[in-house]
Amino acid sequence: MAEIRVAREAGACYGVERALQMVEAAAAERAGAVHTLGPLIHNPRVVADLAERGVDAVGSPDEAAGDTLLLRTHGTAPEEEARARELCARVLDATCPFVKKVHLAARRLADEGYQVVVVGEAGHPEVEATLPHAPGAVVVGSAEQARAVPRARRMGVVVQTTARRELLAEVVGELLGRAEELRVVNTICEATSGHQAAAEELAREADVMIVIGGRISANTTRLAEISAACCPATHHVEGADELRADWFAGAGVIGITAGASTPASQIEAVRERIGELVGA
Ligand code: SF4
Repeated sequence: MAEIRVAREAGACYGVERALQMVEAAAAERAGAVHTLGPLIHNPRVVADLAERGVDAVGSPDEAAGDTLLLRTHGTAPEEEARARELCARVLDATCPFVKKVHLAARRLADEGYQVVVVGEAGHPEVEATLPHAPGAVVVGSAEQARAVPRARRMGVVVQTTARRELLAEVVGELLGRAEELRVVNTICEATSGHQAAAEELAREADVMIVIGGRISANTTRLAEISAACCPATHHVEGADELRADWFAGAGVIGITAGASTPASQIEAVRERIGELVGA
């Protein structure tokens, strides 16, 4: 009979739990309309569930004028936050404190005259929200892109919280020869690296791996990549309804991991559904 194991570190992290508690509390107060600025977290199922309960995601603070607005975990650009504070009756800041650390580090480095390099994915909301804190900052997503960064006397590096350590090491290796002084502030979130290490450990022993989380979630996608490198039969799903019985045929160990924006209830639903499919 197949054994189903959940990675020792998986699912909703501190920042996501905190954001969910804030939105739950705001919705329960029933003191006027509640919105989130963009999706609160990168989990479409959770976002849809919130929408059903009347908490919708708006594209700009202008759409939430006079109401309560929650700033998402990935952070908000300073100008947008200022606009929200001007227009909305109440602004609740659900930005993860670890993301704030990235903003602060980027700002401090820029203030001290460093050319700031943000290691991460261009266009990701967290990176986009970081850039305005350090005018002139550049985004680097690979060692190859690092080779194109213009030389500078002083260079300061911050990292997207969900980036891989290996990427940081590769980029820093390239930048070493491009600046007289290179300062690195490692802002990778421990929740992310803990999830990644636990996923890799489990994927080495599993015949099939299920990775749960939004397809747009950078940290979940990263978990799926790490898992697939050790266990080719890795499947990334957003919910239990996507599981297929044929994935588990002949599997001895079935591993489950989940991105930092996946609540415990979704992990439990997937575990139960796999149990039904394999008769465990
Ligand atoms: S993964 Fe880390 S940085 Fe991102 S929301 Fe969770 S605790 Fe915060």
